Amino acid sequence: MEYKTGTKCVQAGYTPGNGEPRQIPIIQSTTFKYDTSEDMGKLFDLEASGYFYTRLQNPTNDFVAAKIAALEGGTAGMLTSSGQAANFFSLFNICSCGDHIVSSSSIYGGTFNLISVTMAKMGIETTFVSPDCTEEELNAAFRENTKAVFGETIANPALTVLDIEKFAKAAHSHGVPLIVDNTFPTPVNCRPIEWGADIVTHSTTKYMDGHGAAVGGAIVDSGKFDWLAHADKFRGLCTPDESYHGITYAEKFGMGGAFITKCTAQLMRDFGSIQSPQNAFLLNLGLESMHVRMPKHVENGQAVAEFLQGRSEVEFVSYPGLSGDKYHELAKKYMPNGGCGVVSFELRGGRAAAERFMKNLKLCAIETHVADARSCCLNPATSTHRQMTDEQLKEAGIPAGLIRISCGLEDKADLIADLEQAFRD
Ligand SMILES: *Cc1c(COP(=O)(O)O)cnc(C)c1O
Repeated sequence: MEYKTGTKCVQAGYTPGNGEPRQIPIIQSTTFKYDTSEDMGKLFDLEASGYFYTRLQNPTNDFVAAKIAALEGGTAGMLTSSGQAANFFSLFNICSCGDHIVSSSSIYGGTFNLISVTMAKMGIETTFVSPDCTEEELNAAFRENTKAVFGETIANPALTVLDIEKFAKAAHSHGVPLIVDNTFPTPVNCRPIEWGADIVTHSTTKYMDGHGAAVGGAIVDSGKFDWLAHADKFRGLCTPDESYHGITYAEKFGMGGAFITKCTAQLMRDFGSIQSPQNAFLLNLGLESMHVRMPKHVENGQAVAEFLQGRSEVEFVSYPGLSGDKYHELAKKYMPNGGCGVVSFELRGGRAAAERFMKNLKLCAIETHVADARSCCLNPATSTHRQMTDEQLKEAGIPAGLIRISCGLEDKADLIADLEQAFRD
């Protein structure tokens, strides 16, 4: 029986047996015991499934990862210590020195830095394309050595919406997977796999946790990408791994399991970016109410965006839920129930106006964060992007007066009243 999203938020991933804990237990143990070396040896050889050391896998994490995989409609999933680790692993699992990535230019700043600076140092090059590019422009970005296409469903902070079908079509016609970071809408509002994405990633730090309590990430495999059909490109999945006695992931674990098994067995083993079981437990508490919280975040985001749009102090408002927004049609197609609670707007009067306005806010705290129960806001020009001049900010599409506001779960009338008094002062 395939349950609906809300039911999966509450119950997927963990089914206790007779007399077992109803809530997912926190297995706070670094290691696991075995009766014989032979038993443990089978785990090391990936001949049997089970646990031996929490740097690679932990049961608490696996229950929660299975829930997220079920929510996204994937075949396998894993948790990571952060969203950064999830995006890095999802790319590095199939790219190595000498390879190339095609990425949307409208992505989270941390991910942009990861691939344009740090992964470039590893010999992996990236071509950035506008999310609004034509199919011809997108196809022209591919090379012989391209191994993946990357984008964000709703980009943080630009709030551009990815045309998932367009990007999937281009990726597949070049024999590579599409990786989509689905952090902002969550699987409650968009399921990229249904539109052709092959791998989905998350910063679970945001709406999945939803309470600003624990940093984390997740990777889900759709199980739909046929690695063996492109064995020359994906040698790491399609040729024997000598560090595991010569097993070939794509043959032994099939389309549904190869990607996540390799990612766990090699990257988690070597980089050790595991999520702590305690954080996985907290994440699951967030997931249990995600389907109840997301519509409220959307309702508040929509109300705040509409309020801001009507103010003379505001130059423009970006929110895909607004009927005049550039991405409204794409948002309606991919997220018919709304996207998220994050709204961007530009105040007339630049930095000084933004600073004054934000200081006046009482409910909305100034934070480098989005997507938790409490509303928060940020002016990139005076915080994350403060090293840039007004000219440079303009070129980057981040005017000095830009404010990103993440609408929490408060009463929307109070949020709007707070914004109103901040304008008045
Ligand atoms: C925050 C964020 C990340 C990075 O996640 P962390 O959990 O902070 O490492 C990646 N992608 C998007 C879209 C994000 O918003």
